[in-house]
Amino acid sequence: MTAPNIETIVSLAKRRGFVFPSSEIYGGLGSAWDYGPLGVELCNNVKQAWWRWMVYERDDIEGLDSSIILNRLVWKYSGHEDTFSDPLVDCRECNTRLRADKLTDGKCPNCGSKNLTEPRPFNLMFQTHVGATAEDDPSSLVYLRPETAQGIFINFANVLTTSRRKLPFGVAQIGKSFRNEVTPGNFIFRTREFEQMEMEYFVKPGEDESTHQEWIDACYNWFTSLGIAANNLRLYEQPKEELAHYAKRTVDIQYRFFPEREEDERQWDELMGIANRTDFDLRTHSKKPEDAEGKRLNPDSTEDLSYFDEANKERFYPYVIEPAAGVNRTVLSVLMDAYSEKTNDKGETRVILKLHPSLAPIKAAILPLAKNKPEIVGMAKAIKRSLQPSLRAVYDDTGGIGKLYARQDDRDTWEQERVKVADLQEHLLKRLLANGKSIL
Ligand SMILES: [Zn+2]
Repeated sequence: MTAPNIETIVSLAKRRGFVFPSSEIYGGLGSAWDYGPLGVELCNNVKQAWWRWMVYERDDIEGLDSSIILNRLVWKYSGHEDTFSDPLVDCRECNTRLRADKLTDGKCPNCGSKNLTEPRPFNLMFQTHVGATAEDDPSSLVYLRPETAQGIFINFANVLTTSRRKLPFGVAQIGKSFRNEVTPGNFIFRTREFEQMEMEYFVKPGEDESTHQEWIDACYNWFTSLGIAANNLRLYEQPKEELAHYAKRTVDIQYRFFPEREEDERQWDELMGIANRTDFDLRTHSKKPEDAEGKRLNPDSTEDLSYFDEANKERFYPYVIEPAAGVNRTVLSVLMDAYSEKTNDKGETRVILKLHPSLAPIKAAILPLAKNKPEIVGMAKAIKRSLQPSLRAVYDDTGGIGKLYARQDDRDTWEQERVKVADLQEHLLKRLLANGKSIL
């Protein structure tokens, strides 16, 4: 089974220490969430799984970590200053602010009124100011990045030169992004501060369409390799009118985030987007391109981000294929998918999270059978110390063994073993190398 709805995960996540409402002691802050002891481990494991799959296990990807605050011109030429906005309407009856494109039958969902203002664009980038300048000094205006991608494009020449790469190759980045969403919600599904895992794959124009399809297939397989059931995943081809200004084609991988909704079509939403961004980004950040009258399209850039193909002696702007996933949405989908319930003989129901071993927050729990025997306790603590440099292990002697097992089961600890002191080392090695969760 999977979680019946997101609400189930909200309370489970708080109870077990995965995710807490942020700033709760001051009444909270809409759509902000804090990751607790188990949540931070799960997030880190998702990011590590992605990085290992995306960077380590391939031969054609480099990593990068760019700034959150970039020169404002990056967002001017990327098109975000002009076009990164949602259409906004106000309800004249109850003053609720709404997204025009999310309204059903033109009605205010709060009061049902149809007395709404005309839609106007609302830019989603958070603004702030750098340096000790006046708040209203326009030269100090900067934005918190709304995507990690632009940090990769502006470093294209740096990475190309220092890594001696040839096309095709990609640059991967994980980091926080910020969007001042008009209507955030659904727990960690849509938040104003979120974490992205993005990779920009640079290819020769003409090879973009087949490479795009390869990445769509690879990304879908990555999610199933994390243990997400295939019947909760689907591919969604964005229609022309939904495409971003830079995109030639975009396919989303959607997850069944809303299984409680009756209509199947409304159960799905985006988990990851895989876009063909064409040569838009490298071209727009380059000093070279000119319009019909020979005027530079970007008079501010000092660099030409084109690529010289030695083999064919030709210069061009590479096309870009972008698989972009959210850490938080991935965490939500694996939690929903891992959810199951177990009822014991007494009719009591417990929630068990069946997370994939690579994602399990705690990999090993050391639970001594007797806490008053120095030999056993000493050995148990030594085992914990020997494991802790390479994985998250915990030691717990605060209850009877049955209770200790149940507690770790709740936390989805991957491996818990009952072993005799004498067989310990051999046994542990064997068990930790084996796959799958087992309780002996
Ligand atoms: Zn209203």
